[in-house]
Amino acid sequence: MTSSPRKCPICGKPRVADHAPFCSPRCRDRDLMQWFGEGYAIPGRPALPGEEGEPQADADDS
Ligand SMILES: [Zn+2]
Repeated sequence: MTSSPRKCPICGKPRVADHAPFCSPRCRDRDLMQWFGEGYAIPGRPALPGEEGEPQADADDS
């Protein structure tokens, strides 16, 4: 499979796992501020948790 590296949606730098999907806490804050700036009235969230590429560990019920 080809998994292209995700980039920070704020500044475009390669994201850091610790701050995924952003590259730094700053970009994270920036994203938050953008949300508040928009009034938080966006129908349909732009970024779903599942879209970050987090591997879902389902199956394996022991
Ligand atoms: Zn960034």
